[in-house]
Amino acid sequence: MHEVKRVGVIGAGQMGGGIAQVAAVAGFDTVVSDTTDAAVERCKATHAKLLARAVEKGRMEQADADAASSRLTYAVGGAEADGLSGADIVIEAVVEDAAVKAKVFSTLAKRFADPVILATNTSSISITEIGAAASKAAAGADARVIGMHFFYPVPVMQLVEVINGLATEEEVTKRVIALAEAMGKTALPANDRAGFVSNRVLMPMINEAFYALMEGVAEPEAIDGIMKLGCNFPMGPLRLADFIGLDTCAHIMDVLAEGLNSERYRPCPLLRQLVTAGRLGDKTGRGIFDHQK
Ligand code: NAD
Repeated sequence: MHEVKRVGVIGAGQMGGGIAQVAAVAGFDTVVSDTTDAAVERCKATHAKLLARAVEKGRMEQADADAASSRLTYAVGGAEADGLSGADIVIEAVVEDAAVKAKVFSTLAKRFADPVILATNTSSISITEIGAAASKAAAGADARVIGMHFFYPVPVMQLVEVINGLATEEEVTKRVIALAEAMGKTALPANDRAGFVSNRVLMPMINEAFYALMEGVAEPEAIDGIMKLGCNFPMGPLRLADFIGLDTCAHIMDVLAEGLNSERYRPCPLLRQLVTAGRLGDKTGRGIFDHQK
């Protein structure tokens, strides 16, 4: 099995930055690439802040934080950045836009030959579709395309959902599971259906909480309280929706409705209405709950 030593991450945002940090802390030589200097600088500053905080809180020794920093490098140029050279795996975490991802994977497939793994952190786009974009650029590259779905915040969340596209080779899945485990995560495999497992199960539950609210079954605090105390959830579904972003929730429901060909997955009218009003949750200060206070 070809061992992963050097990890390339494309997209230095919330998720890409977190994935790169966890890879570097786990001992991998890691490079993060974005399209702009500003994005890369923001990511670098976040890494410095989070590693310093981990030391301050006693979660990490200073020497380990320094070693992780020394393993992190930054590049501008997206999938074309020279700094990505020598990567054994490239993990894509750019914006959730199928056309942008197709372009990134087309570049990666031409640039990186077997056995380099081409992974995507997409939360809702088909891995098979991303694989097809790769194999159009370099025949057979879809065998090396796989979903490596981390959760936010990456340094804290334990799960990596590993999603096989139609053409993903078993060896690639094994190597990705081994990498996720070496990064201190628990990897669980799934196949490529809309929403994979995480969003397929979570989002309809969140959507149902909006229906319960819309129909006056209970007040938001009661809906969340009942699910927290009755089901042992750390956070109620409505609070979680605010945290994820109501626009993201509505978008994923639409993806489920299209992908699973069923209207029962359409976003609840109340969810859509709040998105239209710009009440998107924590990121706008108000969703179901008021976060401005
Ligand atoms: P983000 O907006 O924080 O970061 C995206 C980054 O990608 C930005 O820095 C942007 O400059 C960069 N980018 C855009 N086009 C690029 C390109 N062509 N080449 C290189 N960089 C490019 O977004 P995020 O929340 O980090 O999400 C990234 C991916 O992770 C998405 O596919 C999203 O669906 C997925 N995801 C997000 C979460 C979450 O909770 N935020 C959880 C799991 C998966």
